[in-house]
Amino acid sequence: MDPETDALNELHRRLSGLRDGRVADYIPQLALADPDDFGIALVSMGGNTYRAGKADSVFTLQSVSKPFVYALALGDLGPRETLRHVGVEPSGNAFNAISLEPGTGRPANPMINAGAIATTALVRADGPAERFGRILACLSAFAGRTLDVDEDVYASEAATGDRNRALAYLMRSAGSLRADPAEAADTYFRQCAVRVTAADLAVMAATLANGGRNPVTGVRVVAEPDAVRTLAVMATCGMYDGAGQWLLDVGLPAKSGVSGGLIAASPGRFGVAVHSPPLDASGKPVRAVAALGEMAERFGLHIMHNS
Ligand code: GLU
Repeated sequence: MDPETDALNELHRRLSGLRDGRVADYIPQLALADPDDFGIALVSMGGNTYRAGKADSVFTLQSVSKPFVYALALGDLGPRETLRHVGVEPSGNAFNAISLEPGTGRPANPMINAGAIATTALVRADGPAERFGRILACLSAFAGRTLDVDEDVYASEAATGDRNRALAYLMRSAGSLRADPAEAADTYFRQCAVRVTAADLAVMAATLANGGRNPVTGVRVVAEPDAVRTLAVMATCGMYDGAGQWLLDVGLPAKSGVSGGLIAASPGRFGVAVHSPPLDASGKPVRAVAALGEMAERFGLHIMHNS
């Protein structure tokens, strides 16, 4: 076995014993997740995949969708116009916080729910079906295969997502949302319910790390400057209210989601993904955070590292 797979297997074996955290249940369907599902995958810039544990278990993207849709919107509108609608400053608040810029109503960044809903609405299209079609096609190109929606998870979030709907209406009243609030929230719920595996997520992260070209399929998915911008926003805002500590401890642009997925990108080197449903108090997957912390330290991955 190659040394990369050996290292991932060893990490997986050890962290399987970690029993902290709780599976998210505020979206009822997410509560059905198996807390012992645990997979790790890593994809190099040469397109090689290394995996450990259940890297083929299927789960929904949730907030891990946010950086990819942000990259799509950047490509559609350009950075300046995108910035008029969604900021790039860490909010220091929880993922579902009602934190809009006083006066403009602009959400702080595209990684919190308000910013993600506003970003989704920026994707160019003639109507909701085309908009979601473009989002799904983009997510699929990042993954290098055709993805689809978990209709049960979508329906479950649509039935309980009043806080996100409220955020959309607030942004509309402040003039910062370009679309119909109900439609924007609905499209956001759909993008959150797109099904992936840890192996898919590692390819998606590796595509960002590779300047927007999928290292497995060779297809350019987004322009290089947009991939770089997206990684920069992930570095400062990707881990919500723990973003500063994450950058200090792990030092890689990253994004987690409430279904237990986490991606991190080492620019020019690899993309990595971990899936494990139990979350800590701030909504981050416990085993994934531990895995990335250990990998960063053991292999000197911090982006501020001098080698
Ligand atoms: N769909 C979830 C929500 O909006 C995503 C949150 C997350 O993964 O952090 O509540």
